[in-house]
Amino acid sequence: MRSTETIYFDFLIIGGGPAGMAAAIQAARLGLSTTIIERDRLGGQALAAPWIENYPGFPDGISGKDLMKLFEAQLNTWSVPVIYNEVLDIEIIPPYPPLQKGGVGGFRVNNIETRCLLLAVGLTPKLVGIRGEIPYGDPARLEHADKDVLVVGSGDSAFDLASCFAEKARKVTIGMRDETPKALPKLVERALFRGVQIQANWSHKESSYDVLISCVGKEARHPLIDKLSKDLGPLELRPGEVTDIPGLFLAGDLCRGQDRHIVIAAGDGIAAAQAAHRYLSPPQRHREHREKK
Ligand SMILES: Cc1cc2nc3c(=O)[nH]c(=O)nc-3n(C[C@H](O)[C@H](O)[C@H](O)COP(=O)(O)OP(=O)(O)OC[C@H]3O[C@@H](n4cnc5c(N)ncnc54)[C@H](O)[C@@H]3O)c2cc1C
Repeated sequence: MRSTETIYFDFLIIGGGPAGMAAAIQAARLGLSTTIIERDRLGGQALAAPWIENYPGFPDGISGKDLMKLFEAQLNTWSVPVIYNEVLDIEIIPPYPPLQKGGVGGFRVNNIETRCLLLAVGLTPKLVGIRGEIPYGDPARLEHADKDVLVVGSGDSAFDLASCFAEKARKVTIGMRDETPKALPKLVERALFRGVQIQANWSHKESSYDVLISCVGKEARHPLIDKLSKDLGPLELRPGEVTDIPGLFLAGDLCRGQDRHIVIAAGDGIAAAQAAHRYLSPPQRHREHREKK
């Protein structure tokens, strides 16, 4: 018998962005015991999205903060508990692999055990490498009233953020390391309309600014994936169940390459909860797991 402090959940979710929250809502609806472990704030990178125009159901658009508030309210409707902690390690509980039918192998994260683990941890924004720069996904630090703001990047997020800052900042410049924008033409037009200056072939030596936001993409992998790959071998990063590791699911930006969108992340989360439900059928949930100990 393990220490009484060990808690069991059917479906443990790491990451409380759109993917993790959608997964938790669906898992709760399916009757799985579930929880989210989030290191920071519920909402993830979507909190930094100034205005979302591609989430169906909101014909006039909605801010990332407001959309994430609605996700959180729905999480509360289903009484999903949230644990605020950064996950640094995932322990594999034998027998594993392969996980035998009826076995109790699975995963342990701190004092929580589970047979189904969802990684919905997103990806870390890359930095340009200049002291004091702010990564674009840091929603807590996006107030720049009366300042000279430099946004480095040439994609959608760079142009979207620059347009948003233009409302309050003294001056906003986009420093593109490329010759031409990679952003949607509509976002480029909007930035120009709001008075954002665009500098091609940008180099930081020629710039002066009060705040520098780096918007230059994301790291290819999350450290938790590297940790699991070290223990278990190479992982194929695709949404849904990763066949080489029974019981491990991935969702959202973490495994979506360039297709990083809220609705895709949420869809992945729902699909992962469905897959976890199938994986645990016939039900071998909470009570049965306890009896085996
Ligand atoms: C400025 C900006 C504008 C955007 N605009 C749009 C838009 O208009 N439309 C659109 O569809 N998408 C937009 N996006 C993209 C969208 O926000 C992402 O695709 C979406 O948030 C991905 O969701 P996710 O759940 O996969 O990951 P994330 O949102 O990155 O969430 C991952 C969560 O996991 C947590 N986490 C990470 N590691 C750990 C750990 N070790 N332990 C515990 N918790 C951890 C993080 O704190 C975070 O809360 C925008 C993004 C940005 C930054």
